[in-house]
Amino acid sequence: MADLQSRVDVLHQLLNQYSYEYYVQDNPSVPDSEYDKLLHELIDIEANNPEYRTADSPTVRVGGSAQSTFEKVNHDTPMLSLGNAFNKEDLKKFDQRIREQINHVEYMCELKIDGLAVSLKYENGKFVQGLTRGDGTTGEDITENLRTIHAIPLKINEARTFEVRGEAYMPRKSFFDLNEAKAQNDEQPFANPRNAAAGSLRQLDSKLAAKRKLSVFLYSVNDFTQFHAHTQSEALDELDKLGFKTNKERERVQTIEEVFDYIEKWTEAREQLPYDIDGIVIKVNDLDQQDELGYTQKSPRWAIAYKFPAEEVITDLLDIELSIGRTGVVTPTAILEPVKVAGTTVSRASLHNEDLIHEKDIRIGDSVVIKKAGDIIPEVIKSVLDRRPQNAEVYHMPTHCPSCSHELVRIEGEVALRCINPKCQAQLVEGMIHFVSRQAMNIDGLGTKIIQQLYENEKIKDVADIFYLTKDDLLPLERMGEKKVNNLLNAIEDAKSNSLEHLLFGLGIRHLGVKASQVIAEKYGTMDDLFNVTEESLIEIYDVGQKLAQSLVTYLENEDIRALINKLKKKHVNMTYKGVNTTELEGHPEFINKTIVLTGKLYQMTRNEASKWLEIQGAKVTNSVTKKTDLVIAGEDAGSKLTKAEQFGTEVWTEDDFVQKQKEIEG
Ligand code: NAD
Repeated sequence: MADLQSRVDVLHQLLNQYSYEYYVQDNPSVPDSEYDKLLHELIDIEANNPEYRTADSPTVRVGGSAQSTFEKVNHDTPMLSLGNAFNKEDLKKFDQRIREQINHVEYMCELKIDGLAVSLKYENGKFVQGLTRGDGTTGEDITENLRTIHAIPLKINEARTFEVRGEAYMPRKSFFDLNEAKAQNDEQPFANPRNAAAGSLRQLDSKLAAKRKLSVFLYSVNDFTQFHAHTQSEALDELDKLGFKTNKERERVQTIEEVFDYIEKWTEAREQLPYDIDGIVIKVNDLDQQDELGYTQKSPRWAIAYKFPAEEVITDLLDIELSIGRTGVVTPTAILEPVKVAGTTVSRASLHNEDLIHEKDIRIGDSVVIKKAGDIIPEVIKSVLDRRPQNAEVYHMPTHCPSCSHELVRIEGEVALRCINPKCQAQLVEGMIHFVSRQAMNIDGLGTKIIQQLYENEKIKDVADIFYLTKDDLLPLERMGEKKVNNLLNAIEDAKSNSLEHLLFGLGIRHLGVKASQVIAEKYGTMDDLFNVTEESLIEIYDVGQKLAQSLVTYLENEDIRALINKLKKKHVNMTYKGVNTTELEGHPEFINKTIVLTGKLYQMTRNEASKWLEIQGAKVTNSVTKKTDLVIAGEDAGSKLTKAEQFGTEVWTEDDFVQKQKEIEG
């Protein structure tokens, strides 16, 4: 089995290298998911072939190693890792295993803080020593640096002698500030708050460490002789009383289903926390039961860490294709070896533009790190340089449109290249895809592939042709049966009665979004009235700016467009506003039916007050930013929600904008 031995050797070498980069240098070169994948490959090999298991295998080692720059100190009892669960099945197995040994079990669910484990020793109530986990047996003495963390009490009110353990971490705000300062000094930023926390605690100069604004959550007591607690939950309460900082989001539960509920809740809400978590830790609550269950070489048997699905993974960049949007913008798109990320399979990701590809030196054939957080479109973050194959190809954008061969232009002030040929097929097809999309005419069953085929077969040349389609046009298409055709024709028929704003938005008029379509349709009522509209009267509407007014009037004056509208009318496509009259609804028209998210710190009112006010104005205040969010009100230190809003192009107001608006409305 020479092959297997050489694979085992490669896995040892890679895992040791990655551990070193992660734990010692605080600068990982690959995402955690890659490390976990390789580690699990090795665990599987060892499980099936015990002869390959060695005492120094990465599967039995905990963490990295203690560095010589700090004094090395042996832990009184080993600081272990945790077993991992990646799905419900793993958790059910854990639960079954526990219940086989123990009759009645209660679990403590805690957030898995993404930082680094530290041990704090108190003698007669005074903080005397703080250690990193190191390799689990020996840690580094980082007492002086830990003293700079305000959340660690240097003295407590009771003269007890004991050791507590917990997670030191860097709050997101400190992390963003630190990386911003690093960028200004042309220094390499930290990959994530965990690595930044670890790097900061390993600063030899504790004055520097003090500037990093770290914090800590304590989650276990090592020696209970000085404690009254009989359960993990009592231990944490006792730590609270002694003045330690524990995490308050913990919950006691009785069943594995309740564990799933807790996981679900925090999978949703994790972005709202001011610090990173990478999973949930589930612990048997009773301390005697913990003793009974005991430990493996690497981790306790009475606890398990559920890891959130990876948001960053490595895959191969097979090719770069260009996609042409309906406005002619040409975007390079990465064609990837399909890979599962954040719960879905991804085979394409955005590369944004050519400048970025060159800046990041991304080449075709590279192994690339891709990221997909929540419902954000996946993107390529970087290439893994030490995996670059010799034949990796540097990418150059073409000078001509791949669809219509028209020369591409770069409009001044824009990074994107554009095809400006109004007859470009790709743009026309994209325009039709937009026309049938959910927020536009919402024609279910008319997907990209069908539209492309219909266009190529010359069955549709413009959006009005969709309403002229017959059974005979549709039946010959690939994978189209009688039933599908009937459903599609019904969906087309239904779309004819859509309210005017859907048609307006669907036409893809430059600068006209969903919101303005709604307001304009409501104000003018019919398409015929819109034909007579002037720029001046449009601008009077609050949501309409100069650019949109100009673009709409020019669009509607165009003879071809008038012909298109007539063609739609002939097929009885509705041209009137059928929506609610927002002026009759309770609240303020600007907020009625709007979905709004509040984020960050507000100074002039509490979030609750802001929410209440918005709700009185008819808005819906929700927690997370999605494509459907109309507005984000971002106070100070707004974090990931603001980033998301920027990615979706959602409108964002500052607290001052909001207060200004309140004044305008309330007079
Ligand atoms: P772990 O992170 O899977 O879990 C154990 C740790 O969880 C504990 O040591 C403790 O520090 C922490 N923890 C946080 N909250 C806790 C709580 N409430 N209760 C108890 N413990 C809590 O194990 P690990 O051995 O520390 O690290 C492995 C992780 O490091 C994996 O995610 C792995 O992907 C990553 N890693 C990545 C690379 C890389 O190159 N990217 C290399 C090595 C390791």
